[in-house]
Amino acid sequence: MSDCIFCKIVAGELPCSKVYEDDEILAFHDIRPVAPVHFMLIPKAHIASLADCDERHQALLGRILLLAPRLAREQGLTNGFRTMINTGRGGGQEVFHLHVHVFGGGPLRPM
Ligand code: 5GP
Ligand code: ZN
Repeated sequence: MSDCIFCKIVAGELPCSKVYEDDEILAFHDIRPVAPVHFMLIPKAHIASLADCDERHQALLGRILLLAPRLAREQGLTNGFRTMINTGRGGGQEVFHLHVHVFGGGPLRPM
């Protein structure tokens, strides 16, 4: 997707503060953090949102979710963290490349 910010980050055309990378997944710090630690995990392949996933994405989604606690720990979130996936305009999604927010390290608003 040539006009997708996160695809440009994956391609190295835009910089990011990298937390983790493998052949399928990239994690990097959010440019506008809402907590002392705030990063996102994204699939390297362009998937617009969680609502665009199907059975073919099952393993990838599982890998992303299982990575979240490991990376959170490595980023110092030893006391817990919040995960968030905004989906669609109604869900507050701004960047239409699937991403899982992970944040914490300070007071969080109760849900
Ligand atoms: P959404 O509202 O779609 O769930 O969240 C998109 C997130 O991407 C926002 O928290 C925003 O701060 C972050 N973001 C937008 N553009 C960039 C960018 O160029 N670099 C990084 N690292 N984060 C970005
Ligand atoms: Zn993309």
